[in-house]
Formats: sequence, C-alpha cells, structure tokens
Amino acid sequence: MTTTSVIFPEALALPAIGQGTWYMGEQAHQHRSEVAALQAGIDAGLTLIDTAEMYAEGGAERVVGDAIRGRRDEVFLVSKVYPWNAGGQKAIAACEASLQRLGTDVLDLYLLHWRGPFSLEETVSAMQTLMQQGKIRRWGVSNLDYDDMQELWQLGAGRECVTDQVLYHLGSRGIEYDLLPWCQQHQVPVMAYCPLAQAGRLRSELMSDAVVQDVAHQHGISVAQVLLAWVISHQGVMAIPKAGSIAHVRENAAALEVTLSDEALARLDNAFPAPGYKTPLDVV
Ligand code: NDP
Repeated sequence: MTTTSVIFPEALALPAIGQGTWYMGEQAHQHRSEVAALQAGIDAGLTLIDTAEMYAEGGAERVVGDAIRGRRDEVFLVSKVYPWNAGGQKAIAACEASLQRLGTDVLDLYLLHWRGPFSLEETVSAMQTLMQQGKIRRWGVSNLDYDDMQELWQLGAGRECVTDQVLYHLGSRGIEYDLLPWCQQHQVPVMAYCPLAQAGRLRSELMSDAVVQDVAHQHGISVAQVLLAWVISHQGVMAIPKAGSIAHVRENAAALEVTLSDEALARLDNAFPAPGYKTPLDVV
C-alpha cells in the first residue's frame, strides 16, 4: 500500500494527513497526554504538525515544543500569526515568540491566520523578511477565499504563498465551487481544517448518518476514517485532524491507507452534495 501524499512546491511530498493542535495546551493536567498523542502521531507518520500563537495563547506551541524535542528534523512544523501581528516588526516579534515556545529556530511554514488590519502586501513583505532572516522556510495563508487569493496573486510575491488552510469536510463543501478548483489549477495545496467537523450538531449528524456509517461498515473502517479518507481523496488536499488520544491518532494515521470505492464516493456525494453556487467561506 502507498501512503497518500500532497505535493508542495519544490516537489516536497507531505503525508496527506497531519496533526492539528487547537485546544491543546489549555489544561496543565492534559499536557503529558497531549505530548504523547502528538509523539504517537509522528511515530505513525503524521509528521506535519499545525499550531498557532492563538491556541491557548501559546500553550499549544509549548505542547508541540515538548513533543518534538530531540526530533525536530522528523516534523514539518506549521504555525500561524494573528492578523494583528501580521506585518512589520510585530510579525518578526510574533514569529520569534512562536519559535521560542516551540524550541526551534525555524518554522517549515508560517501562515497568516486570517485577514485583519494589515494589507496583504504588508503581510507578504513581512513573510519575505522572515524568510530572508531564516526564521521561516515558506509562508502561506488561512481563511482566504477565492477573491482574496486573486488579490494575493496580483502582488508579484503573493504567488510565493504555498497553501491556503480552510475549513473543509464532507458537510461543508463550499470551497469546491471556486476556491478548490483554482488552488488545484495553480498547484496551491489546500490544508483542510476541521476535517472531522470539530464539534456540535453538524459533527453529530455526519457521524450518525446512515450512508457514512454504511460506507464505514463496507470498508471495515471507522466513521472518522471515512471522513478523513473522503477529504484526502481530493487532489491537492490534506487534512489536519486534532486528536488528543493515542487511539484516535493511530486511527487517523491508518486513514492514510484507505481508498474509498468509486461507489462509496458517489453515495457520499449524493448524501452531502457540494453547493452549485457561491457560498461564503465557512470559518470557525
Ligand atoms: P477536527 O475536525 O480535527 O475535530 C477534532 C475533534 O475530533 C476532537 O474532539 C477529537 O477528539 C476528535 N477526533 C479526532 N480523531 C478522532 C477519531 N479518530 N475518532 C473520533 N473522534 C476523533 O477539528 P479541529 O477544529 O481541531 O480542526 C483540526 C485542526 O485544524 C485544529 O486543531 C487546528 O490545528 C486547525 N484549525 C485551523 C483553523 C484556522 O482558522 N486556520 C480553524 C480551526 C482549526 P480527541 O481530541 O478526544 O481525540
């Protein structure tokens, strides 16, 4: 079996499933189990770790820092800058603080978390400075819709953006209308956040849906694995589920080897169709 991967610029192949960290680092008593879950994920091949200065106000980055100590070279480390820090000296200071919490001197990828007070031009310029300083290897964006990407592409250096991290799961398919085809055409990998629909009513609906459950049964896999395999069945899309337990992490890693049948994909598509019109970008 081959592990599904997503190709980034410079022919960098990354496993199509990584690890999210939102809500990690919030409770001191969970620190050890969160570190253990992330380490189990790295062991199982989920080597991309996504974090942000926002998560637990730096707490998640500290958890990641402990998880990767002594094995920094094994992981592809992604963090994100708050919109209000995404320009000028603020960006330099925010990145340095993230690096310190993560216990490393370079990020593999640094993302603008969402658009805010700084212009895209100011953010691109700050990202370029950070690259020149050797503090980040690449940069990208998050929560940017189709029109934002067009704006970014108008800035010459905007085209150095290597990913757009957006909400995407079986129950939220709005990006398939324009953003995803555009990213595929321009070889901009999409990082799907909330691939398991995070929490709440929609997640419960997906998890308990008769078609999703039947597909899981037919393939001999869990419902979560159906949702992850569905996300990464799309060209150029990777998923970054957050899992706080070793059991969940291993289950998610095994989804890398799942190929849903054409019949299953058609049934899922029928049960949860993509909108045939423009919808506002879903965010959490
Ligand atoms: P997810 O869709 O990844 O769902 C996380 C939930 O799913 C947790 O409750 C987790 O439980 C549970 N879970 C994980 N694996 C399994 C499994 N195998 N079976 C059943 N349940 C499972 O939501 P997130 O919001 O965490 O999104 C993923 C990541 O994306 C974030 O952690 C973050 O890194 C990133 N993100 C980025 C955003 C942005 O604006 N750029 C916004 C939101 C998220 P448990 O912890 O108990 O394992």
